[in-house]
Amino acid sequence: MICTKCRNDMQLVIQSENLGNRVRVVYLYQCVACRRSLTFEIVEVRRDTDRIVITKSRMNVS
Ligand SMILES: [Zn+2]
Repeated sequence: MICTKCRNDMQLVIQSENLGNRVRVVYLYQCVACRRSLTFEIVEVRRDTDRIVITKSRMNVS
């Protein structure tokens, strides 16, 4: 993955955030030089009474 702004390499970054009753994991690419970031997937995991619900949203990166 190459940054469209400065042509440097972009690194995969996985951020996880605890939002109390759910956990959000964000997958993004971030440029090593200008820090421009591109989110391509968000996964949310939440606990329902007797099951775990996982929601995935995929972004179109181009
Ligand atoms: Zn860049």
